[in-house]
Amino acid sequence: MPAAVTPAAVKSALDAGAGILRLAPTWVPRSFLMPGRRIKLAPQDIYAFGAHRGGIDERWFASTTPAANENRTEDEGLSWVVVDGKKAFTLLDAVGLEGASLIGKEMYDKYQRWPVYSKFFDNLGPIPHHMHQSDEQASLVGQQGKPESYYFPPQLNNLGNHFPYTFFGLEPGTTKQDIVRCLERWNEGDNGILNFSKAYRLQPGTGWLVPPCVLHAPGSLVTYEPQWGSDVFAMYQSMVEGRYVPWSLLTKDFPKERHQDLQYLVDALDWEGNVDPHFKDHHYLEPIVAEQGDGWVDRWIVYGKVKGKELFSAKELTISPGARCTIKDRGAYGLVAVQGCGKIGKHHLQTPAMIRFGELTEDEYFVTEAAARQGVTFVNTGSEPLVTLRYFGPDVNPHAPNVGDHKKTST
Ligand SMILES: [Zn+2]
Repeated sequence: MPAAVTPAAVKSALDAGAGILRLAPTWVPRSFLMPGRRIKLAPQDIYAFGAHRGGIDERWFASTTPAANENRTEDEGLSWVVVDGKKAFTLLDAVGLEGASLIGKEMYDKYQRWPVYSKFFDNLGPIPHHMHQSDEQASLVGQQGKPESYYFPPQLNNLGNHFPYTFFGLEPGTTKQDIVRCLERWNEGDNGILNFSKAYRLQPGTGWLVPPCVLHAPGSLVTYEPQWGSDVFAMYQSMVEGRYVPWSLLTKDFPKERHQDLQYLVDALDWEGNVDPHFKDHHYLEPIVAEQGDGWVDRWIVYGKVKGKELFSAKELTISPGARCTIKDRGAYGLVAVQGCGKIGKHHLQTPAMIRFGELTEDEYFVTEAAARQGVTFVNTGSEPLVTLRYFGPDVNPHAPNVGDHKKTST
């Protein structure tokens, strides 16, 4: 690993890139899931961390959040900044040294970190019905809560894999005792929790906003997932596709003395949020045009508030061949290209067809607050649309739509 980074090195990278930092791909394996093989990683590299670590099914974007995996490598989950064609320092270190000039003074003063990240999530099958703790719950184990959001990029979803449906929440009328009984049945095989939930068909080009403490069993589409910078979770389903889910994956982010307290584990769910009879109305997202011009359109893909707070948001920018645009945003963002090629500021943008593990790409960038506010010029130099996804931190886009607004606007 390179030597410790200095403020001067970060400043010089910012100057050289005119406030835009090139990032290296950050791959993350999960031992309890089966990779879906749709996020461009070369097939011979799916088990590059070692088969015992599980296959690589996630790529994290502009991340300063460590992946909470057992046996993790030292920098697992962290994005590296590429300078002169080499991995030079982590975005985490850069924010630690020059936080205000990267993410803006206001966000840095409030959080002392880049408090969000996004990932591609790519699995062969569904994953267990689980929730992410709230801030209050996560603080008991020294962590932060995690609201998250989904967008299913059409470019990565030619194939839906085994189960392109997501269970959300619990059927209205379900009682806490029903779910306590599911937890009692943990070691009898499938504990039957999905009998108390319903699944929604996932449609490429749409998304969902999921608050903490709300159960979800994500289906098998490739998902772009802007979320809070935390890796806490609790799985309430004991078996998925014939594979056993260890009890420890339910309890790992709850206080130790509560690990066998079934009532406590069920009380940890946001009950009203889970049994909401209008669940889709309150969580489903369709793209909404934010801005458009000659040969380009910028759409909101993730928006809406969680318990009244704007925590993250995301946009999809599409530029026709030969077109260009200058886009001004109110805050820093992490960006990834999903189709086409061109330029972002002075940098090349190139969507890769296949990436070897450890290889660098030109599809991912971090744009500082100052550069975003000044405006970033994108040019499509290719013969197909240039499509990028970018996500923002908290309180950057108070004017963003609310969940449900797609019903009253045209897309
Ligand atoms: Zn989740």
